[in-house]
Amino acid sequence: MSTYEKYEAVIGLEVHIQLSTKSKMYCSDSTEYGALPNSLVSPISLGHPGTLPKVNKSAIDFAIKLGLATNSNITKENMFARKNYFYADLPKGYQITQDKTPICTGGFILIRNADKSEKKINLTRIHMEEDAGKSMHDQDPDDTLIDLNRAGVPLCEIVSEPEICNGEEAYAYLSEIRKLVRYLDICDGNMEEGSLRCDANISVRIKGSTRFGKRTEVKNMNSFRNVQRAIDFEFHRQIDELENGNEIITETRGFDAVKGTTFSQRLKEESNDYRYFPEPDLQPVIVTQEYIAAIKKDLPELPNDLYKRYVKELKLSDYDASILTETKGIALYFNELISSTKNFKGAANWVMGDIKSFLNENAFHIEQFKIKPKQIAELIALIDENKISHAAASQKVFPAMLQAPEKSPLALAQELNVLMESNTDALQEMIDTVIAKYPEKVIEYKNGKETLLGMFMGEVMKLSKGKADPKVTNQLVKETLDKK
Ligand code: ADP
Ligand code: MG
Repeated sequence: MSTYEKYEAVIGLEVHIQLSTKSKMYCSDSTEYGALPNSLVSPISLGHPGTLPKVNKSAIDFAIKLGLATNSNITKENMFARKNYFYADLPKGYQITQDKTPICTGGFILIRNADKSEKKINLTRIHMEEDAGKSMHDQDPDDTLIDLNRAGVPLCEIVSEPEICNGEEAYAYLSEIRKLVRYLDICDGNMEEGSLRCDANISVRIKGSTRFGKRTEVKNMNSFRNVQRAIDFEFHRQIDELENGNEIITETRGFDAVKGTTFSQRLKEESNDYRYFPEPDLQPVIVTQEYIAAIKKDLPELPNDLYKRYVKELKLSDYDASILTETKGIALYFNELISSTKNFKGAANWVMGDIKSFLNENAFHIEQFKIKPKQIAELIALIDENKISHAAASQKVFPAMLQAPEKSPLALAQELNVLMESNTDALQEMIDTVIAKYPEKVIEYKNGKETLLGMFMGEVMKLSKGKADPKVTNQLVKETLDKK
């Protein structure tokens, strides 16, 4: 057993999601992304004396949605608190957040491991708060520039229990959160643009031990992959420290994406006295059961429920189900498709195959896809009824449908002359021609060389230019030969 195998990692993630409301958490300033720097800052965002904050109702709705989707308890009486600290991008000198009464408690996120087993990651809390402004260190040679447009933008912070065991699980956990917030339409989930951020708390301990080790907190990772890399690096670094007889220092560390390493930023103790106290300018927000019920009624079907339905009721594979539920757009399309066909596997193959390839090649979203699910269902029916071959559907009819999405697949198949010949009179005529052409082969066949059936089939196919329905033709060729 290697030294590293003696240890296990203990990981808890703090994820911030930026809520896609139109206005800020405590005032009506716009949250538009990419506006001229410092153009969306009213005196309330800046916390000038005499200004009064007000809670954004949409932000509360979004947080409740997230709470319901993670099976959380929704807190009835929501207080807000001031978290005091000094930083240049926090003009008020405090952040309005939730301390003792996070809006959601006791929820969980289900992740699926590579072996398809499910794991529940419990959530400590989800609370509402506001974002700080943005410091830009690389725009000016001498100074740090500050854009306060982001100050006051609503956030939900999702804090997990320390139940994540490695980088891969962290990746899966983040992917689930992103999928969920996109299904719920409460956050665009874009980590590169900072609308989803993650701090990773990592410690290690000897396997089987029940005590937690000292942790470090890694910040500033701009992709799921980098969170995973940072965790993997920290795991090894901390073990090396312990094995060398050193202690782990409780600290905040940054991540260097180029080197794949973490580095010390500041000691944790320094920044921890936030002197939380109740925000005197905000009334508690009361969330009633009726209110929660109204929001619940409008929740979309969630990815995990869809996944289970596809596997259980449609008998699709785990792989198919996970691809089809990856984005809400694809899932909605597929849902509509299976309301017009009972060939679920065929439907899944079309969506994951020809349709997805087309979207990928053109960098389109499914929302920009012109062919209606009903049309794809008709195309599937044509194949299932042996009216066209799968090859013709994929190579000829589907591309034609992309050009003329308003036309029916049947009409296009006719125009393209790819409808299979199953008219027995027409087929019989071709079969008779072929048989007449090879009298000596007919004798060989009659003498027991049954493999010649394939040769006759091939000739009929050729004569029909590939349009003979193979099933009907096979039957007819046999019957005709047997009668000879
Ligand atoms: P803080 O606000 O100082 O970061 P919290 O108590 O809110 O501290 O914890 C933040 C995160 O750290 C949570 O996700 C929690 O699960 C995780 N965590 C706490 N203790 C440990 C530990 N020993 N090892 C790894 N993660 C931990
Ligand atoms: Mg923290």
